Amino acid sequence: MYQYKGFEDTIAAIMTPSGSGGVGIVRLSGPDVLVILERVFTGKNPARPSEWRTFSLHYGWIKAPSGDMLDEALVSLMRAPKSYTCEDVAEISCHGGPAAVRAVLELCLEQGARLAQPGEFTKRAFLNGRIDLAQAEAVLDVISAKTDAALRASERQLKGELSMELDGIRAVLLQILGGIEAVLNFPEDDTDEGQGEELRADIEASRQRLTELLATAKSGRVLKEGMKVVICGRPNVGKSSLLNALLRAPRAIVTDVAGTTRDVLEELANIDGIPVNLVDTAGILAPRDKVEEEAVRRSRASVDSADIVLLVLDQSLPLDAVDLALMEEIKNPHTILVWNKSDLSPVENKDTGRLSVRVSAVTRHGLDDLKAMMVRMALDGQGFDGHGLVVNDVRHVEALRRAEGALARAAVTAADNRSFEFAAEDIKSAVNELDAITGRNVDDDVLDQIFSKFCIGK
Ligand code: GDP
Repeated sequence: MYQYKGFEDTIAAIMTPSGSGGVGIVRLSGPDVLVILERVFTGKNPARPSEWRTFSLHYGWIKAPSGDMLDEALVSLMRAPKSYTCEDVAEISCHGGPAAVRAVLELCLEQGARLAQPGEFTKRAFLNGRIDLAQAEAVLDVISAKTDAALRASERQLKGELSMELDGIRAVLLQILGGIEAVLNFPEDDTDEGQGEELRADIEASRQRLTELLATAKSGRVLKEGMKVVICGRPNVGKSSLLNALLRAPRAIVTDVAGTTRDVLEELANIDGIPVNLVDTAGILAPRDKVEEEAVRRSRASVDSADIVLLVLDQSLPLDAVDLALMEEIKNPHTILVWNKSDLSPVENKDTGRLSVRVSAVTRHGLDDLKAMMVRMALDGQGFDGHGLVVNDVRHVEALRRAEGALARAAVTAADNRSFEFAAEDIKSAVNELDAITGRNVDDDVLDQIFSKFCIGK
C-alpha cells in the first residue's frame, strides 16, 4: 500500500456548501489541531481540548486573540488514527452565514492552519493508508450520485468491493508469476509438455474475471454520467406531455397550440435508477424567425449527440409531411418511434420497420415498456438490476482494458512452452495496471489529477 505517513502541517477548509445555511462547518486535520483549538475555542466546560476524549462534542465560543467572540460553536474531535484522515480531526460547527464560517476559517488559518486544497482531506486518508485509491475516488462519486442506484453503486466501491475483487485477481496473478519463476529458475525440471497449456488456462481464468468486470463498464458509465434522451416530433404530437409523464411532475408548457415549445428544455429524470437528461426540442421545422432558427439549430445538435432519440408521432392521425421528413432526417441509430395518444382510436399507419412503442402520455399506458426499451438501448442490451459491482470510472476502465490485453497476450505466449519469460512480463504489467487502480503504484501527477476534481473541504 502507498504509505506516506506523518504530514507536518494542519489543513483547514469550510466543508459545507457556500451560501447561507443553518450550520456551517470548518474542518481541521493534522498534528496541530489541538493546539489551534486551544487558541480559538473557549468551551462552556473548562476542560481544555488537549484533555478531550476522542469522538467527543463540545459546546462553547470561537474567540479571536483580542478576546472578541466570533460565534457560538459545537466542536467535535476525532483523534488519530481513527478519523477520516487518520490524523487528529476537528469539525467546528458554527452559524451557517458566509461571513460567520469565513471568519472562523480565517481565524484557524491565522492560528497555524493552512488552507486545504480540493480533496486534500480524502487524499490524506489515502496517503495515510486508511482507504485505497479506488475508494477515495468513490467518495467523489457518492457526493455526485444523482440517483439511488448510482449512489448504491458508488457506495459499494467506497466500501472496497472493487478493490477486494481486484486484490483477489492480483493474488492469483502473483501466484502464477511465482510458478513461472520456479520453472525459469529450474529449467532442468521443465520437461512437462502440458505445463504451457496449464499456465494458459490459469491466465485465461484471470483474464475472464477482468472481462466480466469490463462488461459492467457501460452500466457504470451510464449510472455515473447519466444519459441524454432527446424528445422530438412535430408540434402537438405530445412531446411536452411525454416529458412530463416521464418526469411525473408538470414542467413543460402543454397547450394545444402548435409550436408552444420554442426552445430546448432540459430536465433530469430518474428512469429505473439511471439519471436521464430529458431534452424536449422545438422540433426540427422550417424556422419562421431568428429565435426559431436558433432553436432548430440547437434541436439538430441535441438529436445528433443524444444517447437516445424519442421521435414522437400521433397515432390518432395519419403521418404528415413533417413526420415523414423527421423520420428521414433523424439518423441517430438509437432512435425509438413513440406512437403517442394510444388512448385515442388509431388510424392505419404503415409499419416503418423501426423500433417502436405505443404509449399514452395522458393515461401512462405503455410508459413502462418505453422506459425498459430506453434502459436496454442505453446499456447496449445489457440488463441492469441496480445491484452488483459496476466499474464506473474511465481511469479504471482504461487500466482494466490494458490489463486484460496484457493477460490475453500472456495466455498466447504461455501456450508456447518456450516463452514463459514473455508471459511473465505481460502478467507483471497486468498487475501494475491493477495496482494503478487501487493506488498501490500510482504516479503523483495522476493523484493530483484525481484529487483536483474534488471540492474543497472533502
Ligand atoms: P407538443 O407540442 O408535442 O409538446 O404537444 P403537447 O404535449 O403540448 O400536447 C399537445 C396536445 O395533445 C395537448 O392538448 C395534450 O393534452 C394532448 N396530448 C398529449 N398526449 C396525449 C395523449 O397521450 N392522449 C391524448 N388523448 N392527448 C394527448
